Amino acid sequence: MSYHVNEKGYYGEFGGAYIPEMLYANVEELRQHYLKIMDEPSFKEEFHQLLKDYVGRPSPLYFAKRLSEKHNTKIYLKREDLNHTGAHKINNTIGQILVAKRLGKTRIIAETGAGQHGVATATVCALMGLECIVYMGEVDIARQAPNVARMKMLGATVVPATSGSKTLKDATNEAIRDWINNPVNTHYIIGSVVGPHPYPDMVARLQSVVSEEIQQQLLEKEGTTKPDYVVACVGGGSNAAGVYYHFLDDTDVKLIAVEAAGKGIHSGESAATSVLGKEGIIHGSKTLLMQTDDGQITEPYSISAGLDYPGVGPMHAHLYRSCRAEFISITDDEAMKAGLELCELEGIIPAIESSHALAIFKDKKFKKDDIVVVSLSGRGDKDLNTYINYFNL
Ligand SMILES: *Cc1c(COP(=O)(O)O)cnc(C)c1O
Repeated sequence: MSYHVNEKGYYGEFGGAYIPEMLYANVEELRQHYLKIMDEPSFKEEFHQLLKDYVGRPSPLYFAKRLSEKHNTKIYLKREDLNHTGAHKINNTIGQILVAKRLGKTRIIAETGAGQHGVATATVCALMGLECIVYMGEVDIARQAPNVARMKMLGATVVPATSGSKTLKDATNEAIRDWINNPVNTHYIIGSVVGPHPYPDMVARLQSVVSEEIQQQLLEKEGTTKPDYVVACVGGGSNAAGVYYHFLDDTDVKLIAVEAAGKGIHSGESAATSVLGKEGIIHGSKTLLMQTDDGQITEPYSISAGLDYPGVGPMHAHLYRSCRAEFISITDDEAMKAGLELCELEGIIPAIESSHALAIFKDKKFKKDDIVVVSLSGRGDKDLNTYINYFNL
């Protein structure tokens, strides 16, 4: 069985491109060109040069000695938190803006919930001198003022989405409407391994640099290219896709996906998409998503803004259904404790998304000489207020 996308855009039974007729030309143009563009030597050279000099790659693979001692196994952290803009998202936005330029696009649109993807998109638009419009729910604009300010400083126009619940899903609808109206000059940068084919595959390939680096770095440190386990939190699934990518078809390497259980899986306030989800269509792809009996999408909840997405990318739906990856759900409280533990043992303040991945060590036991690589997807600066309120700092 392959865990990569097939030529029709499916991972097992998940994926595809379920889009309105009006969007077909845009998505089809991308589908026809993305692999060819990404395979051009000039694309690879520019992408890798920017990853090195602008993002700061390769990100270190850090052996967390004190954390390892505490949990009685070998824990390595893949330090995406040290990237420019503080998370893995920049790997994808750099790659997509280079694809957009080669397609002759001059205008970039994006949607954002917490604002992290909006900031990563505004950053690369400033870098390339392209116009940038970010759609964001009115409620999120009020909740995420620092990221709105960052986007404005970087020259982006932030457009409030005022329909529905005024959050991410409404911002996505606005972005899609914009793309339909501007098919010739505009590229839509999607921020995770979600959306219609070819987005999940394109984003996974752009993030795959992370597992390529892990192979080389582990070879230097441990004399093997293969960890025993790779662990990542899953919102849409892009940081997980990045750390899994080069291990997907090698079943010696076990994959662990960590979802946000919020206040508890069955509390009604959670984002444990795979466990709670049923098959359905969201943002143009067939996947697992949280929905009511009559198919209405349920509002997700997590203390971490990056994980409260009601669906999961089609690659991860397939990894779940086929049991290739083990899915673990972590509550708000467990994640916050694990985040604080990393601060105290290693001097690293993680993003709360990443704290979910770190929280598995409390209950799941590993062998003493297992090599466990954890994706430290982002740094905690953006979450300081949440940490302050939670711990009464
Ligand atoms: C956005 C974000 C995530 C969740 O997105 P994925 O596509 O699932 O990776 C996780 N961690 C951080 C730090 C983020 O900013």
